[in-house]
Amino acid sequence: MANKKSKGEENNELKKLIAHAKEYGYVYPSSEIYDGLQAVYDYGAYGSELKNNLKRLWWECMVRLNENVVGLDSAIFMHPTTWKASGHVDSFNDPMVDNKDSKKRYRADVLIEEYAESLRKAGEVDKGNVIESEMNQLLEAEDLAAVKDLIEREDIKCPISGTCNWTDVRQFNLMFDTQIGSVADDSGKIYLRPETAQGIFVNFLNVQKTARQKVPFGIAQIGKAFRNEIVARQFIFRMREFEQMEMQFFVRPGEEMKWFEHWKSVRLKWHKALGVPEDKLRIHEHEKLAHYANAAVDIEFEFPFGFKEVEGIHSRTDFDLKQHQEFSKKKMQYFDPEINQNYIPYVVETSIGADRLFLMTLFNAFVEEEVGEGDKVKQRTYLKLHPALAPIKAAILPLTKKDGLPEKGREIFDRLRFDFNLIYEDTQSIGKRYTRQDLIGTPFCIAVDHQTLEDDTVTIRHRDTTEQKRVSIDALHARLSEACSFTRIFEQL
Ligand code: ATP
Repeated sequence: MANKKSKGEENNELKKLIAHAKEYGYVYPSSEIYDGLQAVYDYGAYGSELKNNLKRLWWECMVRLNENVVGLDSAIFMHPTTWKASGHVDSFNDPMVDNKDSKKRYRADVLIEEYAESLRKAGEVDKGNVIESEMNQLLEAEDLAAVKDLIEREDIKCPISGTCNWTDVRQFNLMFDTQIGSVADDSGKIYLRPETAQGIFVNFLNVQKTARQKVPFGIAQIGKAFRNEIVARQFIFRMREFEQMEMQFFVRPGEEMKWFEHWKSVRLKWHKALGVPEDKLRIHEHEKLAHYANAAVDIEFEFPFGFKEVEGIHSRTDFDLKQHQEFSKKKMQYFDPEINQNYIPYVVETSIGADRLFLMTLFNAFVEEEVGEGDKVKQRTYLKLHPALAPIKAAILPLTKKDGLPEKGREIFDRLRFDFNLIYEDTQSIGKRYTRQDLIGTPFCIAVDHQTLEDDTVTIRHRDTTEQKRVSIDALHARLSEACSFTRIFEQL
C-alpha cells in the first residue's frame, strides 16, 4: 500500500508520539539536562516495563516454545579479531556526504533513495527505479566518485540549505572503538559490538556441546549493540546505542532455504499475534545481498514515515563460522551423528531491534478518538497495548480518601501485587485518574467504593471500551491472569 501521507502529516504523527512518550514516562532523550545526545534515548518508568515485556515475550517464544533453541548472554566487548573475521572492520561502512553550506551530513544512499522515491511519488516511476538501481551498482563497485557525480547530475539538493554544494562521498565505518586496559596505543583498541550475532558464532560449539544440542538448533540472545549511524533521526527508529534480539539457527548445508522459509513465516506470524494489522506489515525481499548472505528479507512495518524494516531474516550461509575458523585457527565443525559427517553448519538468522519493535508497538497502540455527542464531543487518547505487554496491568483506585476505602484498596493491592504490576492511587477525581491510566495504557482500572465494604465487590473498567462491570474481589486474580498472560499470544503462534 502506497504511503499517501504528506511530509507534514508524517512529522506531526511522529512529533505527537514523541511528546506522548516523554510526558507519560515511556522515552526521554538521553542526558536531557545537557540538551540530549543525538540518537541516544532513555526508557522511563513505563517504557522500561514495556520494553522488558517485549523482550521477555520474544525470549519465551524463542527459547521456551522451541525445544531446540537455547539462550546466551555474551559480552559486548569481544576480541578485536572477531570484527576482522566478520568483515566489519573492512566493510561495515556507509557512504556519507556533507553539504558544504548547511554543514549537514547525509548518507549518500539515503539521499539518492529519497530522491528516487520522490520521483516515483510524482509519477516518474521508471526514472526513480533506474536511478536507484544505478546507485546500487555504483555502491557495489565501490565507485564513490560516480555516486557523487550521480548526486550532482540529478541536482539533488540538501533539504536544509537547498544547495547542491557537496563534499566527496566517503566511506564511514559505523563501529565505535575504545581502549581496553591501560595501554593507550593501537594494541588495546577494541570495538563496541555493532551486532550481537558474533557473540553467538564464536560460542557456537561451547553452547552446542554444553546444552547437548544437535543440528538443527538455534542460539538466542538479547543485548546492546552500537552503531555510529550517520543519519540519526526518526526518534528511536535509528539509534546509536540500541538493543537487538537475535537468533542464529544452525542447519545442515543445503537445508538452509527450507529453514529460511520456516523462520520467515514463523516471524511474520509472531508480529500478527502481537496485534499488528496485516496491512501494516509487509515482506521486503533484498535485491542487493550482504557479503555473507544467500537470501534475505525484511519484515517491514508501516510507520508514519513509510514502510521500514523492523526485523531481518537472513540466510548467512557458513560465512561467519568459516571466517572464525580461518582467523582463530580453531575448528568450527560439527559432527553430525545422523549422517556420520563433519561440516560447518549453515546459519539462518532472525534479527529484530527491541527499540524498533517498541516504536512499532507504540504507534500501533496510540489511539485518538472522539467520544460523546453534540456539543459534548471530546477527544479521548489512549494506548491500546495488548494487556500482556502493558506496563501496568491494573490501577487500584479507591473512590475517596476516607471511610476506610484506602485501607480496602491497599488490601486488594497487596493480594495482587506479587503476580501483577499495579498502581495504587487515591488522589484526584476518579475521572482524571481513569484518563491518566488510559494515557499510560493500563488495561484495567479497579474502583473501590462504599459497596466494596459491604459485599467485597469492585468495579472493573476496561480501557478500550470504558465499560464498567461489578465483580467480586475474589475473581480479580483469575480475570487479570486470563487477560495479561502471554499464553493468549502463544496460542496464536
Ligand atoms: P537499517 O537498514 O535500517 O540500517 P540494518 O539492515 O542495518 O538496518 P540489521 O543489521 O539487519 O539492520 O539489524 C537487525 C535489526 O536491528 C534491524 O532490523 C533493526 O530492527 C535493528 N537495528 C539496526 N540498526 C539499528 C539502529 N541504528 N537503531 C535501532 N535499531 C536498529
